[in-house]
Amino acid sequence: MDHLIYIPMPRFGSWIEPFPEGIYVRPADVWIDPSRPTPFALVTHGHADHARGGHEKVMATAETLAIMECRYGPQHGAPVAYGESLRIGEVEVSFVPAGHVLGSAQIVLEHAGERIVVSGDYKRRPDPTCAPFQPVPCDIFITEATFGLPVFRHPDTASEMDRLLERLHANPERCVLVGAYALGKAQRLIAELRERGHADPIYIHGALQRLCELYEEQGVALGDLRPATSASKDELRGRIVLCPPGALNDRWSRRLPDPITAMASGWMRIRQRARQRNVELPLVVSDHADWDELTQTIRELAPREVWVTHGREDALIHWCGLHQIKARELNLLGYEDEDD
Ligand SMILES: [Zn+2]
Ligand SMILES: [Zn+2]
Repeated sequence: MDHLIYIPMPRFGSWIEPFPEGIYVRPADVWIDPSRPTPFALVTHGHADHARGGHEKVMATAETLAIMECRYGPQHGAPVAYGESLRIGEVEVSFVPAGHVLGSAQIVLEHAGERIVVSGDYKRRPDPTCAPFQPVPCDIFITEATFGLPVFRHPDTASEMDRLLERLHANPERCVLVGAYALGKAQRLIAELRERGHADPIYIHGALQRLCELYEEQGVALGDLRPATSASKDELRGRIVLCPPGALNDRWSRRLPDPITAMASGWMRIRQRARQRNVELPLVVSDHADWDELTQTIRELAPREVWVTHGREDALIHWCGLHQIKARELNLLGYEDEDD
């Protein structure tokens, strides 16, 4: 038997390497969503925990590049269309919709007979401001787990929007001040309200203005938006005012007519989080997959392995184990929940 030599089985995905500062794709010599400047970065979407400034070259969707330019100034960008197939080094690369925010993409990598999907952040429910998540069966699925606990089940967006409008109409002397993350959530809320026939002016905090304009330039109609700062108290009665979450309790909001404080976030499922921000009307609206969407997506894609990012990995890794799917945790730095 001494003529037999032991040849180790190559590990799945041995050609991509997760580092704390991002995922390195060796045969393409590119980084995905790196948290520090690199010679060549592929970027899934414009949220600050994925898109940083300072790369020598960036490949992303045109919408994501526009968002990065809005935030960081001119980029050495190479726009890529959804579904377009590119060869980078020895790797076939394509970007497909992730359904998270405008321009968000999953990055599909093919090399050595293996397909790896880096999903970035994603959700499965409809969003009038972006293309829907496209499932791509793969060998390794790299998933987020922002809401990776069974307690996180986001309700229907429609029911949350109805609660917001009921509260608004029941209080014509007050305004409803909604805290919403500046990229994605704010524009989605506006578009959802428009879809429900709410054609009144919506007043926005100055910090939301540039990104709302960018969405409109990219073809997402948001209707009549007005700056909240220049509006009188009387003008704001019976109106919806949007601001970034950080402005909910600051001096800025004191000039509003007795605001009903609301916040739109997946975290509003947790009462304590709502109380911390003095939120009277918590709206559970998230741009991330909830527990059911995470597990449904993994079932659907049937990957051989799941690699998990973004915080609450343990429960999802345990779930994968119960379903005979190999899973591991990736400790990427700086992936935060600011874009909830
Ligand atoms: Zn994100
Ligand atoms: Zn993220």
